[in-house]
Amino acid sequence: MIDRNFLDWPFFEERHRTLAKRLEIWAAQHCEHVDHRDVDAACRALVQKLGYDGWLRYSAPGDEPLEGIDVRTLALIRETLARHSGLADFAFAMQGLGAGPISLFGTAAQKAQWLPKTRSGTTIAAFALSEPAAGSDVANISTTARRDRDAYILDGEKTWISNGGIANLYVVFARTGEGPGAKGISAFIVRGDNPGLSVAERIETIAPHPLARLTFKDCRVDANDLIGAGGEGFRIAMATLDVFRTTVGAAALGFARRALAETLKRARSRALFGAPLSELQMVQGHIADMAIEVDAMALLVYRAAWTKDTGAERVTREAAMAKLYATEAAQRVIDTAVQIHGGDGVRAGHAVETLYREIRALRIYEGASDIQKIVIARSVLSSAAGR
Ligand SMILES: Cc1cc2nc3c(=O)[nH]c(=O)nc-3n(C[C@H](O)[C@H](O)[C@H](O)COP(=O)(O)OP(=O)(O)OC[C@H]3O[C@@H](n4cnc5c(N)ncnc54)[C@H](O)[C@@H]3O)c2cc1C
Repeated sequence: MIDRNFLDWPFFEERHRTLAKRLEIWAAQHCEHVDHRDVDAACRALVQKLGYDGWLRYSAPGDEPLEGIDVRTLALIRETLARHSGLADFAFAMQGLGAGPISLFGTAAQKAQWLPKTRSGTTIAAFALSEPAAGSDVANISTTARRDRDAYILDGEKTWISNGGIANLYVVFARTGEGPGAKGISAFIVRGDNPGLSVAERIETIAPHPLARLTFKDCRVDANDLIGAGGEGFRIAMATLDVFRTTVGAAALGFARRALAETLKRARSRALFGAPLSELQMVQGHIADMAIEVDAMALLVYRAAWTKDTGAERVTREAAMAKLYATEAAQRVIDTAVQIHGGDGVRAGHAVETLYREIRALRIYEGASDIQKIVIARSVLSSAAGR
């Protein structure tokens, strides 16, 4: 019951359509019955399976000829996985986001050391930027990294770190002081078992994923573990998010498509007042609204992905629009799905109840909706000033 006509849109090439079909079969086999009782174990198993069967190869391209980051592929994979399992999407996405700074800005040696492992699923990756006092105000981070001969020593705290506690590789952003604010931040590779790195707290959320607050105390990393040049950390973080923000929209789209599919199934099979629910005109009105929002999300998500893939250096405005609209609209679509399911919509473990919990954090992380609006408005205003 999933509408797959969008794959015929001109944003895609034949390789995307083939990949989407293959992944659909794989996800139906491997992602429908994920055991959420132990999210760490479930996440480790998913990373391993995604790696073993070759899907993580797309999460962070290496140095092979003709290989570059392909946002349409990332988005199609996230959309498909999210439709089957939020945790499977999370496992895939974090391998990409965690390894992203290395894939995009790492040296040949860093890529050779880490990417084969994140792409095979033998190393779990994390992206450690946020701090207790610096979430939206990310240029305000206070974790420090001071140079000590051939090393850097990290001190500070990171929070809301996805895969925190189970990751073997953390890309950590810390203040090195080359300049004020955003100009004085650098990115480092920190191993999960690096002395001085510890898990201060595991954080539980409404849709459980491995998540932690981390402390760094005299955490010594080799100077070769600096990614890019000193002071380039903010640019590295923003360029990585520029790629992955669109894919957050894709995950929201996957959740919304699943909510619509569950709603259609329910509306056709549930009889009320002597007829199927789907014959009530008010229900039809809801279904029309849901279908329009799903298509609008897909158009914005794949427009942003296509724009990046076809050569735009930055897609800040397109990615912000895709993320903002898709996450907000998915919340509305899923809320309607819960409503049309009646009591079953809030029954613990029901597909739409799970979606209702899964979607919420997407409107907050990788730039809350309010921040996306600011980004879009600034871009529109500056384009207007240039005309
Ligand atoms: C499930 C989850 C997973 C995460 N994973 C990671 C991860 O892997 N790595 C990582 O580094 N971080 C991660 N984060 C952190 C995430 O990026 C931050 O939570 C987010 O940036 C918001 O920061 P904050 O929580 O400190 O909220 P705050 O910065 O305190 O913002 C609170 C709210 O204020 C509003 N707001 C903020 N600024 C403005 C503004 N300028 N104008 C108008 N309104 C504004 C927004 O509504 C925002 O939601 C994760 C968060 C969650 C919830």
